[in-house]
Formats: sequence, structure tokens, C-alpha cells
Amino acid sequence: MKGVYIVGASGSIGTQTLDVIREYHNEFKVVGLSLGRDLIKAKQIIEEFKPEIICLREKKELDLSYKPIIVYGDEGLLKVASYHKFDKEVFVNALVGISGLMPTVVAINSKKDIALANKETLVVAGDIIKSLIKDKGVQLTPIDSEHSAILECLQGENKKDVKRLIITASGGSFRDKTREELIDVTKEMALAHPNWSMGSKITIDSATMMNKGFEVIEAHHLFDIPYNKIDTILHKESIVHSMVEYDDGVIKAAIGSADMHTPIAYALRYPKHEHITNKPLNLIGLNLHFEELSMDRYPCLEYAYYAVSRGGVYPAVLNASNEAAVWLFLNDRIKFLDIEKIIYDEIHNDKYESYDYSLDTIIKISNQIMNSIKERYEK
Ligand code: MG
Repeated sequence: MKGVYIVGASGSIGTQTLDVIREYHNEFKVVGLSLGRDLIKAKQIIEEFKPEIICLREKKELDLSYKPIIVYGDEGLLKVASYHKFDKEVFVNALVGISGLMPTVVAINSKKDIALANKETLVVAGDIIKSLIKDKGVQLTPIDSEHSAILECLQGENKKDVKRLIITASGGSFRDKTREELIDVTKEMALAHPNWSMGSKITIDSATMMNKGFEVIEAHHLFDIPYNKIDTILHKESIVHSMVEYDDGVIKAAIGSADMHTPIAYALRYPKHEHITNKPLNLIGLNLHFEELSMDRYPCLEYAYYAVSRGGVYPAVLNASNEAAVWLFLNDRIKFLDIEKIIYDEIHNDKYESYDYSLDTIIKISNQIMNSIKERYEK
């Protein structure tokens, strides 16, 4: 039996992870969960999986049929991450934002394998996380569909032979709009993503293409491939989840229906490919299209390459300015195109050159940047 901890368990990835656990209940036992503000949903999940430790966002009474340990807030997340029950344990991080960073760190230090859906962990602190993983001898597997696909395509291969990784992008909710048409788009329009159903933060990141920029940085860390050997391509059907091109011209692609249960099951049971209830892909009549993903159309993608090329804390600066800007957009304080302006200004600020690359500094400057950008647009 492997103990499972899921933070962000009531979100989109969290509930789909619980679906997979339900299917493999002979292999996995849920030990710890963190749940969001919807207490009715939280209670349903708790009563079904009966975890020993539960983290809630804020202090609330839950009328339960048994007595679990209940902890709260960011500190509670760390208690879930450090809890221990089984010899083998996996920590599924489905939190959104930099608040996902420290729970990953604590879970690694508690010798848990990591199944990672939280993008910010690797974007802001990739090198630190990688050396921790190595030190503690744990395994980190990606839950994102693109990275899961690349992991598939690298099986049995020598990384020396990789010419480039090709990450596919569906194009987000505004993919058919011109730059001019983006001036007055609303959050409601942005939140209607054509292919994937996701949380609001990631849906906006998909519309700006910052999500793809983060995925480039994550792939660079996950697979030890230089970022200049990682390309992106527009692929509206979301059937090819990503590709790896080798030096002899062979391109391996992982294809399948757009269903997150598949990468979640692969991350939890890597490298097994056994049956899982998902939408099967019908190949007959399938048409696949690929187009250039233009950095003029999607400047946030360019900013991600720029931030990772500057190195140090710049990916954290990129993330914090994006996190604040998306929050402002979702709260009706700025327009859609202001998001990229805010990020541009921050990543071109030379003062961050002098900051040391450490967890403390990354968290400190991230909070500083997020607060100062939000204050600037205070109503
Ligand atoms: Mg993705």
C-alpha cells in the first residue's frame, strides 16, 4: 500500500486524482488532503476517503463521522506534507500559485515521492528542487499533459540524442482573435477554454500563453534539456500532447484524448500503462493541425524564455508579476493586455540581478512583488 497526500484535492486536478485513486484503491490509501472553501464538497470527499489529516483554508467546524486531525491554512499544508504513515508515500501537489512551493519542499524532505501539477514549484525553484530530490532519493513525476507526454517519448532513449522537445499548445480561449481584438476581452470570455476544463488562474495563463512559457521552464528542469532546445507549436485539437525530436529526424509523439486522468494515473503509477477509465481516442477520421506559435501574438511566451535566460530569481519575478496581474484581471482591476505589460516591466528590472537564488529569497521577493503590484491598482 502506498500512502497518498493530495493538496488542492477539491480542485480540477485534485478531484480527477481522487477518481484515479478510487480505481486503484488496492494500491493507494489517502492519508492526507487539503480542501478548498466549498465545505459541502470537502465533507463528501472526507467521508468517502477518510484521511487521517485534513487541511482547510480557514477555521471551520465540520460535522464528521470520525475524528481526523484538522489543520488550517498555509501552515496546515506543511503539516500535511510532513505527516507520515506508510513506508512508501506520494504527495500530489495540485495547488495553484507559489503557495505550492513550500509544501513540495517539505514533502520531499519527508521522503515522499512527488506527483507535481503545481507549475510554480519548478518554475521558480527548479534547480533547488532537483538537488533536494537527488539528496532525498525520491521520485518526481509530472502531472501536466505535456510533460507526461515528453516523459513517455523519452522512455528507453538517450537524452544525448534529443534534438529538441516540442511542447504543443491548444492556443487558449482567444486563439482565434487578433491582438486588436484582445483589447476589450473580458474575464468571462477568457474563462471559456475550448479544450480543457481547468481552474480560472490556469485558464487565464493559457489565454496569455504564460502557461506554455511556464511549461518550457518546467520541461527544462524536469528533463535536463537546455531551454533553447525546447520549442512550442500551436495544435488546436489537443490530441498530440507533446513530442520529442531526435537527431536522426525521428519525432516521437504521445497522442490521446484530452483527459487528465491519463497523465495523473501515469504520474502515480509510473511507468505502468494499465487500464484506466478515460475517454478512448478514435483515430478514424482524425485531422491534426500544427501552426507556428507566434511570440508577437503571445509575448508572454517570449518573456518566459527571457526570464529563464536571465536566470537566478528572474523566473520567480516572472511568476510573481504574472500571479499578481492575473489576480488583478480576475478581480476586474485591469484589462487583459495589461497583464503582459505588468510582467514586461518587472522582468526587465535589473535590480533582481543582485538577489541570491535561495528558497528564502524567492519567497520573500515573490510576496514583495505581488503585494506592490496589487497595491498599485488598489481601487
Ligand atoms: Mg499543460
